[in-house]
Amino acid sequence: MESLKQRVLKDGRILDGNILKVDSFINHQIDPRLAFDIGKEFYNRFKNAEIDKILTIETSGIAFAVCAGYHFNVPVVFAKKRAGLNMSSEVYQSKVYSYTKQTCYTISVSRQFLSPGENLLIIDDFLANGQAVSGMIDIAKQAGAKIAGAGIVIEKSFQPGGEILRSLGIRVESLVIIDSLKNNKIIIREALEK
Ligand code: 5GP
Repeated sequence: MESLKQRVLKDGRILDGNILKVDSFINHQIDPRLAFDIGKEFYNRFKNAEIDKILTIETSGIAFAVCAGYHFNVPVVFAKKRAGLNMSSEVYQSKVYSYTKQTCYTISVSRQFLSPGENLLIIDDFLANGQAVSGMIDIAKQAGAKIAGAGIVIEKSFQPGGEILRSLGIRVESLVIIDSLKNNKIIIREALEK
């Protein structure tokens, strides 16, 4: 997705620990037109997959999942990182290790919002070690739902998440793939535009 690539190159900043800071258009301030186009691109890539529902994780996945959900015309469910007072009998839960925060947390989805047999598209802002997406897959499985694939805004190919998920047979569609953040330079994989 050329517009997203250009934006990453223009406004992305590299932090220690192979973290790409994209606060000015993805993680803090959000560019609605770009988000809408990202949603449309996810739709184009998965439009033949008969998606029933989108599953994402708070906070940064929500904007892109909603934009995709608009194009698919399906509901969007986000996994919560704070379970509140919900009883575990009312929620599906999974443990996720956060790469950026270096802590473990529990994600929860109310049982009423996922049903057996539903075909889910998982969406997230970044794919690094694959923990967040794996947690969502775990929750989808607990619900008896099917996984059509994962739509990722930015994949860092030098971390193992993409390989792990693809080796499990998950269809992963990443709109931008970053091959390296070494030497303070963002190297984006060139791909033929669809
Ligand atoms: P994973 O679970 O695949 O290891 O990491 C994905 C999650 O960590 C994403 O939901 C995202 O919030 C965060 N993350 C991982 N790497 C980066 C990064 O380079 N930049 C930003 N902004 N977030 C990241």
